[in-house]
Amino acid sequence: FKKLSERLARTRESFTQRIDELFLGKKQIDAALFDELEEILVTADLGIATTMELLETARRQVKRDNLSDPQQLKHIIKDALKSYLTATNRPAELVMPQQGPFVMMVVGVNGVGKTTTIGKIGAKFHAAGRSVLLVAADTFRAAAISQLKIWGERNDARVIAQHEGADPSSVVFDAMAMAVSKGYDVVLIDTAGRLHTRANLMDELKKIKRVITKQLPDAPHEVLLVIDATTGQNGISQATLFNEAIGVTGIALTKLDGTAKGGIVANITRELQLPIRFIGVGEKIDDLRDFDADEFIEALFA
Ligand code: GDP
Repeated sequence: FKKLSERLARTRESFTQRIDELFLGKKQIDAALFDELEEILVTADLGIATTMELLETARRQVKRDNLSDPQQLKHIIKDALKSYLTATNRPAELVMPQQGPFVMMVVGVNGVGKTTTIGKIGAKFHAAGRSVLLVAADTFRAAAISQLKIWGERNDARVIAQHEGADPSSVVFDAMAMAVSKGYDVVLIDTAGRLHTRANLMDELKKIKRVITKQLPDAPHEVLLVIDATTGQNGISQATLFNEAIGVTGIALTKLDGTAKGGIVANITRELQLPIRFIGVGEKIDDLRDFDADEFIEALFA
């Protein structure tokens, strides 16, 4: 179980270490320092708006408290980032229903880490003593079905699947019926990330959602969009499309271990107004972490 700070090494190198170097080389807080800080924040993919807001907070505080030591500015930036993320990452917690299964529909384009993330979430629930049903509703790719089955075997989770090319809604219908009748605690639904056209895909996802709601009126309890952190702004554009079509309720941000632009977390919570539920920091089963803004910033600045 590697420490989060180690997993965020690439972002720490480009972001935290650059901030440290900048502040070490300066004797006082001046306009040039703020300019260089701005450049570092923007480079880490924090986004222009977030960067400006953070720097404005910092400038105000420097003025109010009459600060001159650059080291104090580092703490201000860290705290501002923390409160910013905590405030924008709402609602932070997944809410489990009082009764019946918790149903999560997982969406996202191919290759972002959807199936892996479902496997890891299933493992978390399994470890917490919940019974998990995995649903292979990406019937477009045979590989997606077999990959999900492997995750099911690893975690003692039952996998509901049909053959490649089967109607995804019918797979979901069967799975929901079984979840309700057998009293499963958690249902995790894998969906396609690419069909012949984008309109096809969105129509299919809408249909799946309708099938779920028809069988369980308060479900799905979560529509989780998986975004690959290494794709930057592109991931945010994808999110907008999915959100408009089916209404996303939370984000899993994968591959944060593979990017120097971990500041994307702030960009996501601002631009999408959606909470980040999980972050992926590696390919192993325990590399999916619950996203905790405090812990994330502490790890980044550790
Ligand atoms: P899908 O097409 O969206 O279902 O994507 P997959 O689940 O098949 O994942 C695509 C690739 O990304 C696989 O090689 C995964 O092991 C890898 N992957 C997923 N999440 C992470 C992560 O957090 N970090 C790293 N480094 N790789 C990841």
